[in-house]
This record gives sequence, C-alpha cells and structure tokens, in this order.
Amino acid sequence: MRLDILLARAATRLADAGSPSARLDAEVLLCHVLGVDRAWLYTWGDREADSFDQARFEALIAARAAGHPVAYLTGEREFWGLPLLTGPSTLIPRPDTETLVAAALSRMSGRAGRLLDLGTGTGAVALALASECPDWHALGIDLNPDAVTLAKRNAERLGIANVGFRVGDWFAALDETGFDVIVANPPYLSDDDPHLALGDVRFEPRSALVARERGLADLHHLVDASRDRLASEGWLLLEHGAEQGAAVREALQASGYRDVTSERDLAGHERVSLGRWTGE
Ligand code: GLN
Repeated sequence: MRLDILLARAATRLADAGSPSARLDAEVLLCHVLGVDRAWLYTWGDREADSFDQARFEALIAARAAGHPVAYLTGEREFWGLPLLTGPSTLIPRPDTETLVAAALSRMSGRAGRLLDLGTGTGAVALALASECPDWHALGIDLNPDAVTLAKRNAERLGIANVGFRVGDWFAALDETGFDVIVANPPYLSDDDPHLALGDVRFEPRSALVARERGLADLHHLVDASRDRLASEGWLLLEHGAEQGAAVREALQASGYRDVTSERDLAGHERVSLGRWTGE
C-alpha cells in the first residue's frame, strides 16, 4: 500500500479510537518504523510500503488505538530539544516541565555550582540543565532503579558528562549537602484526580503521579528536607499542579525560604514555585 494512504487510514482509525492527535500520532509512528523524519514522509508519500514495515506499523497503530502512549511505543520523546529515551518505568517528559528548567536556568546561568534533581525519571530536567550549564555538576536521584538505568543511558547517548544518577528515596541515600540548586517534579496529583483515568496518564507509573495529602505530601517533604541540603543562598524549585501554587508558596514561607514566588507554564497556570534558602 502507498505510504500516504496507509497514513490516512491509520489517522482515521486513531481518531475513531479517540486520540486527540491522531494524524500526528500516525506520522510519528510511521517515521519510527521507517527511520525517517516527517519531512521525508511528505516528500515520498507516493512510495509503496514494504509488507514488513506495514505489518510493524499496523501493530503500533493497534497499540496506540488501545491507548498506549506514543512515547512508550517509539521509546523516545523530545524534551528541551533533547531526544530522550522513555519507558514505562518513568513519567513521559512533558512541555509543562520546561517551565521548571527555564526557572532553574535563570538562577544558574553565568556561574558554576552543584544541582540536585529529585525524582529524575528519564533524567529530563537534570540533562537539560547539565547540557545548558557545562560548569555545573548535576546529580539525579530516583526511587526506581529502572528509571536510573534509563537516565544513565540518556546521558551516555547524548554525551552529557557533567551529570550522574543514583537510586534513592528522595534524600535517604544521599550524604551530600551544599547544593546550589535543588529541583524536583514530584508526584503531585490527588488519588481521585479524574485526569488519572484519561489518555497517556493511565499507562504511566502511579508512583510518579500520585501523592498523599491531596497531592501535597511529597512537595511538603521536599520543602522541609531541602533546607539541610541547600548551600546558603541556594534555590529550591518545585513543579506542582495548577491549583497548588498558593499551598506550596505558603509551605516555603513557613519553612523560612526567602524571595518565594511562582512561575507560570505556557497555558498560564502556576506550575513552579521557588524560594531561596539563606540558612537559619
Ligand atoms: N503534570 C502531570 C500531569 O498532570 C503530573 C506530573 C506529576 O505528578 N509530577 O499529568
């Protein structure tokens, strides 16, 4: 079958199955099978697919129609311009989290220091910041050993050397103190969040999404425990839900952080809150 016809049929099938981005999903999956980019597809759509490629593509479309995230099917997702390996042991990197990277970057630029990324997953935030700030050393921690393996492979594949990854439960396995910046995109959804029943989130690890205390438990722990790990004048930056900005700012202020503020994501929601630790 011609590639353009194969693509059009797949897009229709995904739209019927409820994918909000059916055409794009079909293009990304076909590119993955053929090892080409989307511009190639537009140029060579009149070529015939070979039967092996067609069968592989149709299997991926069936999995996508059943709801599986595109990033798990291709094993890759771009974040901050970096092609990252992804897998079911980690959250899929999201554009929202680029707000966290941008906020940290503006406090890291032009100097050297040490960065800690807690709950690093694919390593997305640590890798983006390490690649932007070659004079910094980044350390990423994750509870899940499979995530740490994936993050290490990402660093190696991207040739980013000023970053390391380690297994641990937040700070539990960590002796180091004196970080100049600590960042985290912790789980922050409440366990009854209706969003958990929709789309890609259904296939992502619950442990990366849901926290107790209506999503605030891990955020509160990080606000409290980071105080012992930050250098004087060090920054803590936390991603959180659109409705959690006030609660996180309040926790930061109550714990003695200064210059507490929030930053908005591209949709205009408060997405990251931060404060500076001046020591007690
Ligand atoms: N932003 C994610 C979502 O709404 C949640 C990520 C998280 O809990 N850290 O799907």
